[in-house]
Amino acid sequence: MAAGAPDHVYPQLAPDGQLIIQRCAVCGRTPSFARVRCPGCFGPLKEHLIDGYGEIISFTVVYRPQSPEFALHVPIVVVQVQLMDGPEIISSLLGDSRLQAHIGATVRIATRETWSSLPQFWLDPDVEDDGRCE
Ligand SMILES: [Zn+2]
Repeated sequence: MAAGAPDHVYPQLAPDGQLIIQRCAVCGRTPSFARVRCPGCFGPLKEHLIDGYGEIISFTVVYRPQSPEFALHVPIVVVQVQLMDGPEIISSLLGDSRLQAHIGATVRIATRETWSSLPQFWLDPDVEDDGRCE
């Protein structure tokens, strides 16, 4: 890891269900992964809290994971999410309705019952909002 580079998962999940992202203090860019300086203007990056909502812009379904430790979670719906106030990130979906994923679907960050070291999402907050993710 480069000297000074953040050594945590990015974006980080805040205790209240928000996400902690980096935002450039000069140009406002939000990098897709943790950086030391802004990739656009080399300006300083500041931590910024955003709501954990986003939109699926691409996805795929994994039926045969490369590692047996993930077999319990198959089928795994891997999604590329455009966060509403932040960058695009790669993640996965939780919940029984995850196979209904489609481009344009709204997702909400999961605060519980996650199994990945990366932040994970629930598909369609209105359907999945049964108390499992708050
Ligand atoms: Zn910048």
